[in-house]
Amino acid sequence: MDADVNELIHKLDEGEIKIHQLEQLLGDANLACDVRRKYIETKTNTTLEHIGKYSIDMTQTSQKNIENGIGVVQVPVGVVGPVKINTDDDQISTYVPMATTEGALLASVNRGCSVIRRSGGCSVSIIKNQMTRAPAIKTKNVQEASKLKTWIEDNFKKLKEIAEETTSHGKLLKIDPIAVVGRYVYPRCVYYTGDSMGMNMVTIATEKITQYIEQHNDVDVLALSGNFCVDKKPSAVNLVEGRGKSVVAEVLVPRDVVEKVLKTTTEAIVEVNYSKNLLGSAIGGSYGFNAHFANMIAAVFIACGQDPAHVVEGSLGITSAENDDGDLYFSVSIPDLPVATVGGGTRLETATESLNIMDARGSDKVMRFASIVASVVLAGELSLVGALAAGHLARAHKQLGR
Ligand code: NAP
Repeated sequence: MDADVNELIHKLDEGEIKIHQLEQLLGDANLACDVRRKYIETKTNTTLEHIGKYSIDMTQTSQKNIENGIGVVQVPVGVVGPVKINTDDDQISTYVPMATTEGALLASVNRGCSVIRRSGGCSVSIIKNQMTRAPAIKTKNVQEASKLKTWIEDNFKKLKEIAEETTSHGKLLKIDPIAVVGRYVYPRCVYYTGDSMGMNMVTIATEKITQYIEQHNDVDVLALSGNFCVDKKPSAVNLVEGRGKSVVAEVLVPRDVVEKVLKTTTEAIVEVNYSKNLLGSAIGGSYGFNAHFANMIAAVFIACGQDPAHVVEGSLGITSAENDDGDLYFSVSIPDLPVATVGGGTRLETATESLNIMDARGSDKVMRFASIVASVVLAGELSLVGALAAGHLARAHKQLGR
């Protein structure tokens, strides 16, 4: 066996075989991963002991989730909660797994969960549920661009039929907005994607739409994704129109809970939120009118096999804080949360286990999962804004005392 591995490493070194060919050559994805790692160890004079210790099966993983695999990166995972949630049609109380290397994050979110519990739970509503793909299409001139826009609007029914032939779960909900820039047209195709995040699904469906558009119009589809989707980039259209799940969560925190747990006052939290999350973000030109949505979303995404590049989209949104007769009304609005309980990385063994902690794996679970993610975002915002307000209050008291 060792002699065989050494021979393979020699052949890799000589360029007789390529590193991406090992799975096919050996017919065993787990062995291919081991050989490739040993080759990289030899080549780079390193020891990859920890990357090489894992329990997930590379057979499916090498086909669906990673190419050129050499092992698994371990990220510490912990839990926060239980977080208590009232959704439109459910009551949830659950621990939530979060994977991160940022010390203090889980402690802070856990404090927010405790505030939510002591306030009788938070409420969560899912406002929209839609994944998008918007190709870039070139026409001859602005008149033709305008004509194409009208043609797409007039032929929506046919385009919907074609798109839905490619999927049993996906539904084309609308093609809107259709942006026209000079002689280029960007139809934003908006889909319901069931329990999947849906990017592969909507890409396949939109490709069919673009083929039909090209057959019936004298135009060129330049790119299946024309960046008006907008996938994995901060964007105004996603902030306003939404992408993935658009979720809002709120909690009314009694004044005594603000004082006892967050060690501050409703007034101080409202002022910090106004000056930091609203005015500060406005002057910074940020689309993230919040303290740190991305922290909670990244940690849950990594634990649960979500696409971590979508954290950039999850970071969009607004935190609001109001004085409600002395109590604290606090909410987070997350317009762009691409999440899944089937497909993508959710099938990885560790992701499956994490999702199982929340009973959020598989079919008919994605709304539950989106609600849970929103609730920990709310908890994290409450805790951090509360901590900033407590610091501000402590400093004010010190100054006044002198
Ligand atoms: P996927 O892994 O391709 O799986 C989704 C498929 O699962 C659906 O097409 C659907 O089949 C099937 N399915 C089974 N039960 C379902 C249910 N209850 N609800 C919905 N679908 C169900 O996943 P995806 O969500 O479309 O794409 C996610 C992956 O795309 C991630 O790995 C992500 O990293 C990657 N990604 C791709 C792009 C791209 O441009 N292609 C961009 C960003 C990210 P039917 O369609 O037959 O119903």
